[in-house]
Amino acid sequence: MPDYDILELSGHKAYVYQVTDSTNTRLKALARDGESHGSIAAAYEQTSGRGRMDRKWLSRSGLGAWFSYLIRPEPDTVPSEKASDLVFVSALSMARALSDFSVEAQIKWPNDLVIGGKKICGIMCEMAQSEGFLTWAVAGIGVNLLGCSFPPDLPWAASVESETGVKIAPLDLIARFLPHFDNDYRNWLENGLFETLQNIAPLSATLGNRVVAHLPNGEITGIALRFRSDGALIIQTENGECAVAYGDVSVRGVMGYT
Ligand code: ADP
Repeated sequence: MPDYDILELSGHKAYVYQVTDSTNTRLKALARDGESHGSIAAAYEQTSGRGRMDRKWLSRSGLGAWFSYLIRPEPDTVPSEKASDLVFVSALSMARALSDFSVEAQIKWPNDLVIGGKKICGIMCEMAQSEGFLTWAVAGIGVNLLGCSFPPDLPWAASVESETGVKIAPLDLIARFLPHFDNDYRNWLENGLFETLQNIAPLSATLGNRVVAHLPNGEITGIALRFRSDGALIIQTENGECAVAYGDVSVRGVMGYT
């Protein structure tokens, strides 16, 4: 007996688990077995939800949209280093989906959605490549939707309900996200990252604000000016402009940085 139900959500095949370890782990296994582009794995509860760099993602039963989306481009068309673009595309599509419920979230570069300076959504991407081209990517998305209390070790976590009073059922949000992602993904394939970044800019919690980028060899402090065409964040520092391609960035007014 499989431990999932198969549903159709907005024209996509959805493997829906009551409880699973991680929807990314499930969908990666399906991807390796040849699952097609556009399938998703969703769970009411994840026991080992993960964020970037193997950080834990709290995914309590029924309280959020915990799901992963399979991207499988035509073979030999998308260079593997472009896989990280999919985090931006997913963040934009999720902000648009929430907006359909009159919930206005901001995008904290590169991979979080925040409301009122608190984190309601995290996004990460894992991929497989062959000879420099993307074979598949799995975008994992967790959105806190319901409930108003979080454990003390997550002081900057919040839910859509806690910040706005709006209650959205997890599968309803996923069903809204999918058509947005289909459009935003097609646009990205056809036009590259530039337009995605242009659409993110007005929703950004980062641009225009004082930031600290925490890098392996030290910190860069300054004002976040704009996005470079590859998605890197350009920071105006005392010593001129600096580009940060990847990493943890604290933004003044967001998640406890004052
Ligand atoms: P980062 O924000 O550092 O990029 P991720 O987006 O990968 O990290 O998410 C992992 C981090 O998010 C964890 O280390 C933890 O601090 C925090 N976190 C874990 N679960 C939740 C949750 N349900 N809501 C908000 N934040 C969470």
